[in-house]
Amino acid sequence: MAGRPTEVERQIYQCAICIGGEWQFSRGRTETLTNPATGEPSTQIPYCTEEEVQSAIQVAHTAFPSWRQCPTPQRARILFRYRHLLEEHREELAALVTREHGKTLEEARGSVQRGIEAVEFACGIPTLMMGESLENVGTGVDSVLIRQPLGVCLGIPPFNFPAMVPLWMFPLAIACGNTFIFKPSDKVPRTGVRLVELFHEAGLPAGVLNLVHGAKEVVDVLLDDPRVKAVSFVGSSPVAQYIYQTAAAKGKRVQALGGAKNHLVVMPDSDLKATAKAILASAFGCAGERCLATSVVVAVGEAGAPLVRELVQAADALKVGAGNHPDTAMGPVISAAHRERILQYIEIGEREGAALVRDGRTVKTHDGSAGYYVGPTIFDRVRPEMRIAQEEIFGPVLAVIQAKDLEEAIAIVNASRYGNATAIFTRSGRAGREFASRIEAGMVGINVSVPAPSPYFPFAGWKGSFYGDLHAHGKDAIEFYTEKKVITSRWVS
Ligand code: NAD
Repeated sequence: MAGRPTEVERQIYQCAICIGGEWQFSRGRTETLTNPATGEPSTQIPYCTEEEVQSAIQVAHTAFPSWRQCPTPQRARILFRYRHLLEEHREELAALVTREHGKTLEEARGSVQRGIEAVEFACGIPTLMMGESLENVGTGVDSVLIRQPLGVCLGIPPFNFPAMVPLWMFPLAIACGNTFIFKPSDKVPRTGVRLVELFHEAGLPAGVLNLVHGAKEVVDVLLDDPRVKAVSFVGSSPVAQYIYQTAAAKGKRVQALGGAKNHLVVMPDSDLKATAKAILASAFGCAGERCLATSVVVAVGEAGAPLVRELVQAADALKVGAGNHPDTAMGPVISAAHRERILQYIEIGEREGAALVRDGRTVKTHDGSAGYYVGPTIFDRVRPEMRIAQEEIFGPVLAVIQAKDLEEAIAIVNASRYGNATAIFTRSGRAGREFASRIEAGMVGINVSVPAPSPYFPFAGWKGSFYGDLHAHGKDAIEFYTEKKVITSRWVS
């Protein structure tokens, strides 16, 4: 920030809250956040008081009756304007994501683009919300199904996508006629402030979208309140499970997307150079902090040894440094504590007897920055029962398991407690089809290493990667944010 900060900059940097369209600064306690690229203090995040959270709930509850009556095409027009503003502010948002999360600018731009695509999907709300009808279900009796909004919805996103994941949540919920309380991740609270400001600039009425900051205590107040009807959560599996159980016990609708341990199977017939490049992008992009990141490679037959050589060679060439440096290929991880956790996992892998063929602990940044860095780390000869093969590390640590054939590879993938994403690299249509059909995960790539569904399809995690019935994105999300009503009528002459 050069010179005197503008009001908007002040709101972003001091993590303002927004209740009923009014921007204010929380009276709650604060904690210092640091810039992951440098380790220097960057901002103070407030933890909202119970009174502030209650006030946000009341405002959202009061705004609901008039917002749900706002004609659907009119709601869509506000979304179109929002989409346009996000597009205009794309660079600013990407820079904000890089600054608070650490990922490279290119990765941040990509994530903002994915968020904009979710808003584009929401712009189609008049068509998406249409119901069904059937004439003459009985003599002179007709039935009509309509979709109606639920009321106040809540969004709790994780730290790794400060713009994209919130944009999966509130634009669509609001397009459906709900009002919303958004609590950004307490590790990256600033991008969310800007997203909310821009939605108001697009013409969103006061009270429809409210923003509070905090973590467990704030979430617990929201989960406990009967006025909150639905909860969209994305984060780690233990917290997803907690949110699912707590909110469901209170009669709320819940979609809770959890953690992941994604396997990528490499068949011996695949192009190993191209496959290694794709694995590298998936395993080390965003410093491994992606729920779709490949964290285990299952190399089939003779694919193993040459693939590991390719991977190590390519990883050696990755430049690690601050995300806003144009030459950086991999940025820092989110915090000192998270770095420590990743380093502990590398020690665990060594103790378990896996072969550490590339050690990221001794990383030197190409630009001299001294934040929370871990270099690309690769373990070979990993066995499926090892902790580094089973547990989510959420950092740039890749485990390679050798399997004798496709059958064994499928069994290894299916034994995972998680089921978010998986992929196969092969030239064989038969192997690809067999894999896609039998594999127990919700998002499957065939020669695609990050099989992220576009917003028209559900973000379809399975097993320990998802708690709930209706996923984020796509038609599932329309079902999630609406209630169905069937009207049966007879008009006697
Ligand atoms: P996290 O579970 O620590 O936090 C997620 C959100 O929950 C944050 O907003 C946080 O403030 C809040 N929170 C944290 N602890 C809480 C508690 N005890 N009670 C109530 N709320 C709480 O997750 P994170 O570290 O921010 O994000 C990384 C995790 O998210 C990884 O496990 C990753 O796989 C997962 N993730 C999953 C998806 C997906 O689509 N399945 C997408 C992105 C990230």
